[in-house]
Amino acid sequence: MQYTQTVPSSVAPGSILTCSRCAHKWAIRKKGDLPKNCPKCRSTLWMKNYHVYTCMKCEHSWGTANESPQRCPKCHTSKWNTPNVSRSAKENRIVCRLSPEAKAQIYERYDAGETIITISVATGIAFGDVMDAVLERNPSATARI
Ligand SMILES: [Zn+2]
Ligand SMILES: [Zn+2]
Repeated sequence: MQYTQTVPSSVAPGSILTCSRCAHKWAIRKKGDLPKNCPKCRSTLWMKNYHVYTCMKCEHSWGTANESPQRCPKCHTSKWNTPNVSRSAKENRIVCRLSPEAKAQIYERYDAGETIITISVATGIAFGDVMDAVLERNPSATARI
């Protein structure tokens, strides 16, 4: 699963960040906002094309400027982006359980440029449900979280 964020709002302790300019990697020790500059090259554009990926095997999430990571940094699987094959395509299809009204509200906000997190906060709809609604409409899309 892949999410693309230009500027993630905050980072969890232990996250590994990667500068998209000089490829320097560093770990975040405290919870809080993302650093403005890369500690090595001082570029303020270090998070440009920053991606957040989630491993489908161990559910580890990590941020990187790498367009196509080869391995999950935690469990080291190279199949981190491959869904479990035991599930059929039908079962994998996202079906959103929200009402048509709630979905319309989500799509309107999403199309206006809001992210899944801000929609979830503004509407009180659970993050996972907002995500399902967005993915149900366009399963191949890269969701903005
Ligand atoms: Zn850098
Ligand atoms: Zn993993």
